[in-house]
Amino acid sequence: MAEGNRRRIVAGNWKMHGARAALEALASGLAARPANPSESAPEVAVFPPFPYLSAVKRALEAGQAEGGIAVRMGAQDVSAHTEGARTGEVSAPMLADCGCRYVLVGHSERRASCGETDEQVARKFVRAASESLIPVLCVGETLGERNAGRTAEVVLRQLEAVLERVGAGGFGTAVLAYEPVWAIGTGQTATPEQAQEVHAVLRAAIARADAKIAAALRILYGGSVKGANAAALFAQPDIDGGLVGGASLDLKDFWRIITA
Ligand code: PEP
Repeated sequence: MAEGNRRRIVAGNWKMHGARAALEALASGLAARPANPSESAPEVAVFPPFPYLSAVKRALEAGQAEGGIAVRMGAQDVSAHTEGARTGEVSAPMLADCGCRYVLVGHSERRASCGETDEQVARKFVRAASESLIPVLCVGETLGERNAGRTAEVVLRQLEAVLERVGAGGFGTAVLAYEPVWAIGTGQTATPEQAQEVHAVLRAAIARADAKIAAALRILYGGSVKGANAAALFAQPDIDGGLVGGASLDLKDFWRIITA
């Protein structure tokens, strides 16, 4: 268990990698790992590309039915709208229908390459939560922003855009992920101390609105988490697990992170 009895989460963001057979095999391999009844075992989740959600879900359920670990599923993005003429978009009810429990909102790759604004991210968060999905709100600064000493300002701005819409209550079930943009997919991880410092800033911001919700809020670190560095990161008091990209595609390394 992380501090404050928060159950750790290790989540794999599979991004736009793989194809059906490879991702089914990955899901089956993961779900075939023996279930760990210990209270300190983390929750495990994977975020496959949209077209493979149902196939991955089936593979996860089959593994669990044979005594393997429970693995939850999430999507990598969600529409801010519920339905209608929105070509290419996928709604929160559709994701729930496919068996998703979580959804990423505001991943830096979407903020950067799709131009998602804080405002759009906040609307997606609200829509996901209103359809019983658990939003995983991603925040993080670029290298330029960090070097300019603006890390806290940037992540707090990204958080506030959501907080002002949903209040602290909106974070009663949601998850926060601190993902420094300069660490994503670069092999350059934030040091445990750098990550802890930002996590503490984020938790304090929620605590100003509601101390109890802040104490229970799970804040994940993402950015080149590997089997070799996970334990040191997860040992920090405000780091409640990881959002893992590249390493989650390697079953052995992902398992090392899960058991870190
Ligand atoms: C991510 O995709 O959110 C991520 C953190 O990727 P990586 O672990 O590869 O840096």
